[in-house]
Amino acid sequence: MLNQSLQSPKADILVIDDTPENLHLLSAMLTEQGYKVRSVTKGSTGLRGANAAPPDLILLDVNMPEMNGYVVCQHLKANDRTREIPVIFISALGDVLDKVKAFAVGGVDYITKPFHLEEVLARIDNHLTIRKLQKQLQAQNERLQQEIHDRAKAEEKFTKAFRSSPNPIAIATVSEARFIDVNPSFLRMSGYLLDEVVGHTITELDFGKDVGAIAKTIQLLLETSSLHNQEFEFSTKFGEVKTILLSIELIDLSGVQCALLIANDITERKRLENEFISLVSHELRTPLTSTMGALDLLGAGQLGNLNPQGQKFLSIATTNTERLIRLVNDILDLERMKSGKIFMRKVNCNAAQLLITATEAMQAMAEKSQVKLIVNAINIQLWADPDRLLQTLTNLLSNAIKFSAPGDTVKIGAALPDDENVKSKENESATTKHLLITIQDEGRGIPEDKLQLIFERFQQVDASDSRNKGGTGLGLAICRNIVQQHDGKIWVQSILGEGSTFYVLLPLASSQ
Ligand code: ADP
Repeated sequence: MLNQSLQSPKADILVIDDTPENLHLLSAMLTEQGYKVRSVTKGSTGLRGANAAPPDLILLDVNMPEMNGYVVCQHLKANDRTREIPVIFISALGDVLDKVKAFAVGGVDYITKPFHLEEVLARIDNHLTIRKLQKQLQAQNERLQQEIHDRAKAEEKFTKAFRSSPNPIAIATVSEARFIDVNPSFLRMSGYLLDEVVGHTITELDFGKDVGAIAKTIQLLLETSSLHNQEFEFSTKFGEVKTILLSIELIDLSGVQCALLIANDITERKRLENEFISLVSHELRTPLTSTMGALDLLGAGQLGNLNPQGQKFLSIATTNTERLIRLVNDILDLERMKSGKIFMRKVNCNAAQLLITATEAMQAMAEKSQVKLIVNAINIQLWADPDRLLQTLTNLLSNAIKFSAPGDTVKIGAALPDDENVKSKENESATTKHLLITIQDEGRGIPEDKLQLIFERFQQVDASDSRNKGGTGLGLAICRNIVQQHDGKIWVQSILGEGSTFYVLLPLASSQ
């Protein structure tokens, strides 16, 4: 106890006693123990002092001429500022009535004269500890109250946003992808009634062919905890197919892990965009082809020789026209693929041969950029459209070279996947075996938030990439489309400043 008293040097004790010897004795004793002591001889002075600067504890004499201790204590307890201060009575009268009265007016303890040092200190220490704990509890209680209040407010805000959001929103469990709640916008978009959705799993509901993908994406969410603007096809109750962008967050609902799905219906935007892009592309193709023809004629010197400045301008015009033609061709290619106008002509083809052909095709570009190409092929048969796969591999190699620095190495290889992480990307339900092709560079890398986005149309890490690197922002979208039409998967892992690895997982020919 004594030690504890020593450990609380800051405790501030007010002693109110009309007997100067007592005052002196108590003050000296307490000061020596490290307490901060204020002493007064009158009840009224004590009340003023306590009100002005509330102490941690008050030692109060019962017998004082002007205002006795009980009355002083009553005043203390009637004042909000001093109510909670523990009051220990000091009394020479040991009789029962005094003690009862002392507790009745709000005292917490009493000490009888003559004082026993150890006892006085033990009592003071006890009550300071109790008061300290009380204060802690009070503060904790206030914090909890505030938290409850904040939560209630946040919940109210969320509920309002959920109900009135123009975006379709749904909450589903992660374990089963079972709907817990959906908002009115979701019901409007899907055409379903609340009862037809809530309580059912995503797979039970006929939301179209991408539903399995949504359920899988929710599972995948456990690794990333949030996904943004993933594009899905969504069938309404009446069979209408809509394109939605889905953002998913993991949330905890009373201990149940759930996914908060926020959709953005982009069907109309997409239709207009596609219509516009395809119209513009078709309109651009003919004039661009004839411009290129004219530039070729000029370059061949058939219309007379150009001076060096003329040749420089011609070269700029040719590079830019080539880029525009590439862009238009890519747009039309992607559009035809998406609308199913391009069929994959799948045959048994040799993976090693494909990798070597792709590497040879990119050799000149690699040399020009002073990048070393290393191929590590595997002799295995794929069930694929060789032209389209070549298009995918050369595109990935071209990117790897483009974003590498002179002296870097780009490796292309293929292997049967053994890594669990990769296995999870395989379609578990199918018994098909897969080949994993990797294109690894030591280039500038891709920021984490762009790893998925770059597979979307016109998405580039840097807006200047198309200008500086001659790209169109469509290459990876085309690659993804081709790979998907082979029932395969494409993804990328990257470390900024260290390089990127693109993975292409493809089914092997069934004879393998
Ligand atoms: P682009 O024609 O611009 O290359 P892509 O669709 O092929 O279009 O690629 C989209 C963007 O992804 C690129 O502009 C670049 O920002 C990024 N990217 C693709 N591959 C790599 C890579 N190997 N290293 C770094 N960034 C890359």
